[in-house]
Amino acid sequence: MKLSKRTQAIKPAVTLALAAKAQALRAQGVDLVNFTAGEPDFDTPQRIKDAAVQALKKGMTKYTDVRGIEPLRAAVAEKYLKDYDLHYTKEEVLVSCGGKHALYNVLQAVIDPGDEVVIPTPYWVSYSDMTLLAGGIPRLVQTKEENGFRITPEELKAALTAKTRVFIINSPCNPTGAGYSRDDLLGLARVLERHDCLIFSDDIYEKIVYGGFRFHNITALQPSLRERTIIFNSVSKTYAMTGWRIGFAVGPAAIIATAGTIQSQSTSNATSIAQAAAVEALTGPQDDVVEMVREFQRRRDTIVGRLKAMPGLRCFEPQGAFYVFPNVRALFGKKGNGKTLATPSDVVEYLLEKARVLAVPGEDFGSIENIRITYATSLQEIEKGCDRIEAAIRKLE
Ligand code: PMP
Ligand code: GLU
Repeated sequence: MKLSKRTQAIKPAVTLALAAKAQALRAQGVDLVNFTAGEPDFDTPQRIKDAAVQALKKGMTKYTDVRGIEPLRAAVAEKYLKDYDLHYTKEEVLVSCGGKHALYNVLQAVIDPGDEVVIPTPYWVSYSDMTLLAGGIPRLVQTKEENGFRITPEELKAALTAKTRVFIINSPCNPTGAGYSRDDLLGLARVLERHDCLIFSDDIYEKIVYGGFRFHNITALQPSLRERTIIFNSVSKTYAMTGWRIGFAVGPAAIIATAGTIQSQSTSNATSIAQAAAVEALTGPQDDVVEMVREFQRRRDTIVGRLKAMPGLRCFEPQGAFYVFPNVRALFGKKGNGKTLATPSDVVEYLLEKARVLAVPGEDFGSIENIRITYATSLQEIEKGCDRIEAAIRKLE
């Protein structure tokens, strides 16, 4: 079968592929600990579900404005004003079918063949393949664990060239959990001020932060970057709404309008009733978010403590999101199940076979030494999974 050349270089999102595998194994009766997809295990708060039911009852079942219903775009603009004193009009907001779709549309709107996209690595799996689909070239910049998995101003400066069209920053980061402080962002902003490229700020985990870490948005700190920055966000993680598929892009009107045109020729509007639910998510009381984050922090503390105590694992402590990204290099060269472990994929496969625990290998995040474990699951499952991982590691020869 002849398929388009564009698709030859891309692969399915490993996060979703392994989440589906975990579901299938469980459906077959396998007692699996599922550490794959990054989605809160909490149910969507009742107030948000009620808003969707109301919308349905009111007959909100038709196409909406392609860019999103006016109250939702207004709620998004209001959120940025309230949270960061950033002023956006409704024309500077596009509502899409998830943050992923918003990123896809905007990349399609700004990338020409050969344009480079600078991506601090480890990175969320979709940035590189979306770049390739748009005809661009991902420029992966390896960050160092000793720098907290954060790109430094020097590393950024070295990566920017005349071909750079976009720099993507994702704080807190999927998969490392690394968060950029105010000073980190100001350091990067100074470099970006002198280089004419777009900045994509993927803030999807902005509210899921722990301990003393405080989230900052780069444009809010450096207003001179506003005309070149597009902020991406979504209700998926903050409000446990992954299945509702509502995300948004906020930025310069010309880019947002073009991304909207792409959307009008592809999906049209995001689901009408999900948009009504998202208005409630953003504008209603935020206590449920605080409660969820408190629980995530308990889980982070537990899993990081457990992993750090295991022989052969090194574990960076995340400042946000709900992933840990332990370094498993010390396990390479050891033998398990008759096979010598040499890659993160080997480790994941061994843990699946020996421990009935499914994690995500680091390769598609741009790491050949780490595996990703999602702790958006109950403390009980985390303890059970850690017991199993520990026992399996001790069995390696
Ligand atoms: N950005 C990052 C960093 C993510 O981890 C995800 C994963 N869900 C997304 C964007 C997109 O999420 P959604 O499409 O559910 O809004
Ligand atoms: N972003 C989540 C993850 O990394 C969900 C899956 C996806 O969108 O790729 O697991």
